[in-house]
Amino acid sequence: MSNMQVNKEYDLICVGGGIMSATLALMTKILQPDIKILLLERLDTVAQESSAAWNNAGTGHSALCELNYCPEKEDHSVDISKAIKICNQFEVSKQFWAYLADQGLIKNPSSFIKNVPHHSWVTGTENADYLENRYKAMRDHFMFDSIEFTRDPEKMKAWFPLITANRDTKEVMAASRIDRGTEVNYGALTEQLFHILETKYNTPVHCNMDVLDIDPDEDVEWSVRVENTKTNTIEHLDAKHVFIGAGGGSLLLLQKVEIDEKEGYGGFPVSGQWLVCKNEEIIKQHNAKVYSKAGVGDPPMSTPHLDTRYIDGKRALLFGPFAGFSPKFLKEGSNLDLFNSIKTDNIGAMLGAFWHNLPLTKYLVTQVSMSFDDRMDSLRKFMKDAKDEDWEIKVAGQRVQIIKKDDYEGGKLQFGTEVVSSKDGSITCLLGASPGASTATAIMLEVIQKAFPEIMTTPEGKAIVNTIVPTWNTELQASLFKECLGKANEALGLD
Ligand SMILES: Cc1cc2nc3c(=O)[nH]c(=O)nc-3n(C[C@H](O)[C@H](O)[C@H](O)COP(=O)(O)OP(=O)(O)OC[C@H]3O[C@@H](n4cnc5c(N)ncnc54)[C@H](O)[C@@H]3O)c2cc1C
Repeated sequence: MSNMQVNKEYDLICVGGGIMSATLALMTKILQPDIKILLLERLDTVAQESSAAWNNAGTGHSALCELNYCPEKEDHSVDISKAIKICNQFEVSKQFWAYLADQGLIKNPSSFIKNVPHHSWVTGTENADYLENRYKAMRDHFMFDSIEFTRDPEKMKAWFPLITANRDTKEVMAASRIDRGTEVNYGALTEQLFHILETKYNTPVHCNMDVLDIDPDEDVEWSVRVENTKTNTIEHLDAKHVFIGAGGGSLLLLQKVEIDEKEGYGGFPVSGQWLVCKNEEIIKQHNAKVYSKAGVGDPPMSTPHLDTRYIDGKRALLFGPFAGFSPKFLKEGSNLDLFNSIKTDNIGAMLGAFWHNLPLTKYLVTQVSMSFDDRMDSLRKFMKDAKDEDWEIKVAGQRVQIIKKDDYEGGKLQFGTEVVSSKDGSITCLLGASPGASTATAIMLEVIQKAFPEIMTTPEGKAIVNTIVPTWNTELQASLFKECLGKANEALGLD
């Protein structure tokens, strides 16, 4: 990645070398090739924070297996409206990647996306009944009509034998499966998106560039103050638009920008760890993502899952994530991040969110105090036969959950993502973590809508968007969805 001197004026500066900035810059370039974009990354290469393969779970979040997207209603029926939204957002991402593959810009999609069937698996009669009700709600919708459900241990054995081995035959279990689930190496994908930007669109990312501040500018809209960490020099770059895609670091930068819309936002950092299998014989026996249910009162990101992954050219098996607490907002961040984020305009929201989320605090304290043996015991709820010597701990990425002002509770904790922008759209910022990378294309299209409505609203702009991502922003019809699903799967080499 380029480290050359920069001193020009830009139409758009993207802060951060993760999947969000890469997606935004590439989509904008495709829509308007002559637009001048600069990408700035503080580390010495891209995709080292949340977008790195070991730092996230690599699930193509499409609501095929994540039970937190399908809440149970009072009458025990299941609400799948959130699942429908998430599923389409992921398909929109697939459509964009498929477009890049069709154009010959991505040569080998299997380097970042592979089919791994998605399963939900629960124990106990109540959970099994919930899963059956979820299955009934989903099978009637065209997005999920290939879903299978079973209470039969033999069928589950065929789906995920490591989980059924050595179980009491009287144990009540249920599972569902959707074959078309995916495993995505977001790190490898992000690197490829940056490569396309650099080689096909003359838009390099400048590494070792730490953005310190973003101020209003007299001539152009914004002046971005950057420290070149190699030369320890400060540079000022002008931009008509700035996107803050700094992952966990976005909140701290947003707080420095003089716009009213930033008021009241705070962040709650949650760190993570995986148990990673070291035994090739065991890794070979599992070809599935298996998501279970989060404990009562536990946050959605605590949902345990046992996943096949493809990282560094090898098949892997991960269990987790185990949450933890670290005051850092980035893995390569500072222990002062949380403290530095507390301001007069957000302290009420932070206290309110903390007070109304005591179960989360309790959950994090319990998770932090877990020993290796405790974590292995959690794994043994999935895999009865798991042996200590076959597993090791690996640190995952850092998430910063959004805290927002709330009229009733003072502040509330939000588990999704949110685009915060100035009224004129000249500065946009992405806060939050989940479902994250899977939904990057839909979220970045929202950013383009805010920042560059003139690009999106012309007949040409609309036509290009419609060609690349036909199911984005439309009233979804079964025929269109299925046609796009088929085309994207073919272009990406998926079943
Ligand atoms: C444990 C865990 C599991 C997850 N699982 C999944 C999953 O299964 N599926 C899914 O879709 N998503 C998942 N996510 C979420 C997903 O990883 C993120 O949503 C996504 O990677 C965020 O991309 P980003 O570009 O916003 O941030 P990042 O990838 O974090 O990139 C931000 C970049 O900005 C740089 N930066 C920060 N501050 C500055 C600055 N001041 N100046 C210059 N550069 C700066 C950082 O160094 C970094 O490179 C998971 C996340 C975690 C932590």
